[in-house]
Amino acid sequence: MIKKLVTTYHASSIYDIDPQQLRKLGYKTVFADLDNTLAQYNVLIPEKRTFQLIDCFHDAGLEVILISNNTARRVKPYAEKLHTKYIYSAHKPWARRFIRYVKNHSIDVRTSVLIGDQLLTDRPLAKRAKIDFILTEPLVKIDQWTTRFNRMIDRPLRAKYLKQGRLGPTISK
Ligand SMILES: [Mg+2]
Repeated sequence: MIKKLVTTYHASSIYDIDPQQLRKLGYKTVFADLDNTLAQYNVLIPEKRTFQLIDCFHDAGLEVILISNNTARRVKPYAEKLHTKYIYSAHKPWARRFIRYVKNHSIDVRTSVLIGDQLLTDRPLAKRAKIDFILTEPLVKIDQWTTRFNRMIDRPLRAKYLKQGRLGPTISK
């Protein structure tokens, strides 16, 4: 029996994804999770490599929008430094706020992709909003307390899906 894919692609890290390749696949908008996808949760100022990454996405003609369950205090200054738009308190895994955002900004989810490190929050949002999803490994092993419980479920689930070949093709460079 062929089991359905649970993610469109998977990558070791957002930093290993080639933005040109995403553009070639037809994507125009990239929704990027913040904590443990782009940066460690307690890294409040973007690192040099993050600036470089966002520049590469922009150079490839992709718009990057940060999407995070974290607060405005965490997300807004970080995104503003990177010159990206952002959605804070996104209420992932629920898709209501995301769907409202894409409607208000006339963004086509068919040419959008979400990149995130969590099977329990990012992935259900993608599924509910019918947007492609790239699962990454968490950047570091440390999580904010709010995420620690999810991670206990995420880890074995990820291993199971990987074993079953259900995480989609690798998209890392
Ligand atoms: Mg995350």
